[in-house]
Amino acid sequence: MDGKINEAPAIGIDLGTTYSCVAVWHRNRIEIVPNDQGNRTTPSCVAFLDGERLIGDGAKNQVAMRPANTIFDAKRLIGRRFSDSKVQANMMLWSFKVIEGPNDTPKIVVTYQGQEKEFLAEEISSMVLGKMKEIAEAYLGKIVKNAVITVPAYFNDSQRQATKDAGTIAGLNVIRMINEPTAAAIAYGLDNKSDIVGKINVLIFDLGGGTFDVSLSTIEEGGIFEVKAVSGDTHLGGEDFDNRMVDHCVQEFQRKWKKDLSGNKRALGRLRSACEKAKRILSSTTQTSIELDCLHDGIDFSMRFTRAKFEELNMSLFNVCIKTLENCLAEAKMEKSWVDEIILVGGSTRIPKIQHMLREMFNWKELCKSVNPDEAVAFGAAVMAAKLSDDGDKSFRELSLVDVTPLSLGVHVIGEIFDIVVPRNTPIPKKNTKNYVTTEDDQSSIKFKVYQGERARSTDNHLLGTLTVRGIPLAPRGVSKVSVCFDIDANSILTVKATILDTGMSKELTITNENGRLSKQEIAKMIKDAEKYKLDDIEFKKKADAYNALEYYLYNMKKKIKEYNVNKKLRHESLKKIEKAIADTSDWLENNPGAPTVELHGKKLFLESVCKPLI
Ligand code: ADP
Ligand code: MG
Repeated sequence: MDGKINEAPAIGIDLGTTYSCVAVWHRNRIEIVPNDQGNRTTPSCVAFLDGERLIGDGAKNQVAMRPANTIFDAKRLIGRRFSDSKVQANMMLWSFKVIEGPNDTPKIVVTYQGQEKEFLAEEISSMVLGKMKEIAEAYLGKIVKNAVITVPAYFNDSQRQATKDAGTIAGLNVIRMINEPTAAAIAYGLDNKSDIVGKINVLIFDLGGGTFDVSLSTIEEGGIFEVKAVSGDTHLGGEDFDNRMVDHCVQEFQRKWKKDLSGNKRALGRLRSACEKAKRILSSTTQTSIELDCLHDGIDFSMRFTRAKFEELNMSLFNVCIKTLENCLAEAKMEKSWVDEIILVGGSTRIPKIQHMLREMFNWKELCKSVNPDEAVAFGAAVMAAKLSDDGDKSFRELSLVDVTPLSLGVHVIGEIFDIVVPRNTPIPKKNTKNYVTTEDDQSSIKFKVYQGERARSTDNHLLGTLTVRGIPLAPRGVSKVSVCFDIDANSILTVKATILDTGMSKELTITNENGRLSKQEIAKMIKDAEKYKLDDIEFKKKADAYNALEYYLYNMKKKIKEYNVNKKLRHESLKKIEKAIADTSDWLENNPGAPTVELHGKKLFLESVCKPLI
């Protein structure tokens, strides 16, 4: 036995937009960990009810009841600005409220324990991550500390940082972040180890609930994974298909009943769940129906939905997927015919039309379904977690990973030009340096604005931060040089360092809060808050248990008294005494639904003290 016995192995978490999944190296294999409901994936959903916080299935199951207090899609907000057009577009569809916080950060507003509370997307994601951590802990019977978390390949630096922060807030030590398609490729590669001869090209087509990722990788015999190109859309997935269906239903309702239900949040919530269900059914049958009693203004809604209609409504979105895929191939300078395997990942790849369009594009090639589309990413993350902690199979240790930067990184230069320092799809980790000169005589400082993106005009890209170097020796323009070094680590996270070549003086860029990153203090505060919410949850559970115990005891005593009454087993005054105590406690319970745990315990003890000696 080694010293590690009480330490749980590192886990792999696929933090999805709609569903999350956790896996771990356990009993000599990678296991997908089922949650408390026995499900292998858990909705990335958090609900705030009266004093109770639900995460996962419990939260999703009641979304139609409390839409304004049920938060999903935090991944669509994480690391983004409030003014982002995509955030604005989404807000129209969300049933919960999002407001503009300081520095253009979006904040989610809920009512919790009778008070309005604001949360950052990082905090909501941390609650989902915390839930996944708990699921693994319950399964392993040990405290989990270390985790590998996956992110879409297309996530920019702010989104990655924010995800990492969410892990920290959840009490996890994020040992690595890897791209989802890379994780899926690992899962595929290990599964088909013996079939891989030489070097093969694999296409990972991941269409989930909120994001679309496509990547081209090579897998070499012996387990060398190299990502060649990634592309995708951080804003395309199953929920968009659901939304098209919802819109269609709203129009149908309008047409049929001349009533607009688009302002009725509860109705929209119910409609959305019904549409998602119908969509899943349409992947295996060609028609289904949506039935919702009293949807709006007392009107029952009923509608037949065919697969053909579903496809028609979403065809433009399906076309975007194919177009994106074509671009990715072009970028990797890869012919379609060179693709050896097409691996489907993400729940939405179950849609027959998507599979059909893919096969059509690849000359009716068979699609690989050997890896489970819902679990491949978590599986790969767990392999990486085991490898990084020197655990797992021998083949994990041999596994070597070459990832690439998903987006170009560079600085803003005169004329609003985006000067690329590290082009997209560069293998990482990577350090690139470029020299810049002063543009004015006697210029003593240079302000570097660091951007990420693919547009020629710097301001059209995503601003990551600014770095100002001062103390440049005075000289005519173009003489003093400053070298700028972009250092991308294995997590795809960037540090920029500018050095004045004459003096050796340097400055490093830490992306500040104005750019959406959290400060150490803020993270520390959120960790504290997270603990508080957890304690609240425990307290709530204790209270619910005490309430139930008292209610159950009351129920039993009432039953007993009835029996005793019939059998005349008790003396009259004893009976009266118990009956009074029962009636008083019943009344009290009814009038004090929110009574604290101690009082509930107290009432039960009192009732027991009356009943026990006599019954
Ligand atoms: P993410 O990783 O983005 O959270 P997942 O890969 O878990 O997403 O996929 C979830 C999405 O897949 C949801 O939008 C869900 O409705 C959709 N989905 C799941 N099963 C099916 C199915 N049988 N047919 C169509 N869509 C499905
Ligand atoms: Mg996914």
